[in-house]
Amino acid sequence: MPLGVYISVPFCRTKCSFCNFASGVFSRELFDRYIDVVTADIANSESLATTALCSFDRDVDSIYLGGGTPSVLAPDQLQRLFDAIHNTFAVSPDAEVTVECAPGTITPEIVNTLLRCGVNRVSLGVQSFVDEESRSVGRLHTRAITLADIDLLRQSGITNLSIDLIAGLPHQTAESWRTSLDDVIAIGVPHVSVYMLEVDEDSRLGRELMAGGTRYHAHFVPNDDATADFYQQACDTLNGAGIHQYEISNFARPGRESRHNLKYWLRHPYLGFGVDAHSMLHGSSYEGMRFSTSDDLDNQLNGTPRTFRKIDSASAEDEAFFLGLRLNRGIDLRAIAEACGEPAIVKRAPILDALTELGLLEPAGQNIRLTDRGRLLSNEVFERLMLSDPATDPALPAQAPLTILPTRGPA
Ligand code: SF4
Repeated sequence: MPLGVYISVPFCRTKCSFCNFASGVFSRELFDRYIDVVTADIANSESLATTALCSFDRDVDSIYLGGGTPSVLAPDQLQRLFDAIHNTFAVSPDAEVTVECAPGTITPEIVNTLLRCGVNRVSLGVQSFVDEESRSVGRLHTRAITLADIDLLRQSGITNLSIDLIAGLPHQTAESWRTSLDDVIAIGVPHVSVYMLEVDEDSRLGRELMAGGTRYHAHFVPNDDATADFYQQACDTLNGAGIHQYEISNFARPGRESRHNLKYWLRHPYLGFGVDAHSMLHGSSYEGMRFSTSDDLDNQLNGTPRTFRKIDSASAEDEAFFLGLRLNRGIDLRAIAEACGEPAIVKRAPILDALTELGLLEPAGQNIRLTDRGRLLSNEVFERLMLSDPATDPALPAQAPLTILPTRGPA
């Protein structure tokens, strides 16, 4: 089965007030050192798979540069990342190649670089088409800038675009949210992601929400019920416009679902590089290995080894349920029984019945799937379906550090 390759670029132009991802504003001098580390790690992929006791397949049919903001890299830095991928893997000619870009960072030079690197899909972190909402969380772009960027991408031939929106931003109302949804439909992009605002408690906005204050617009954050309503409004409006929900946060016109992201929910193999990058490779059948890099840039630059977690048969069963149920098509219980054995279904049957009784799950042909209400309460559903104990999962010996990596100097 072909791999997906993910590269994390943890650099941003500004730090959004709600965000506590492993990303930030760093000196450009650091970018080259980061690219050195990541490209060396990519070249080391086969040995990484061996360490994980998994087979290594060079065939790749999806590449995703996320972050952070990959479009803040210089053209030669982007080129070096793609060269490293092509030197290590056999990238199929029809691979889906996505780069996340922030509106306002898309110059003709960057677009030419993306084309040269074989990028055929751009995911734009728009979040809102209402300038007051974008500004309130520290985004630097406006609606006009976003529309100009989309024009530039389309004129260059990159038409496979995805737009991210966030429900629950400060100042958002049902009317302003409707404006963003109307815009995203009118623009005609084939793919939209909608996330409900999650404020990390260690972010500036999170701290202000707990302590009170106005600097980061905490007093204008809609309450949870309003945010849930906005999410449901997005589902109804986008589905009505032919941009069908296929996953809890993702919507696409027919045939335009993200091939790369589907790998995460279908448990297909992928390798991640850079800060806070996750990987999953198969061992035998449904079992496999998950491993991840440190979420700290210093650790990444210093070659801190990945941490590994074996996916034994019990964990694989859990994953088949809680990842598969994220998809609107739901899960095929017969297929899970064939892959994991009949007991995987039998021991969850009372829970599945109870969740159906509660209106959180529903049958759909031979599948079972979340209802609209189930999607809003998906974490509770998934918790009840998880029967394995991650604490008892056997871990592997640590991966040998990459000794060629430089140590970090002042940023
Ligand atoms: S939300 Fe995205 S663009 Fe904003 S700081 Fe976080 S990673 Fe960077």
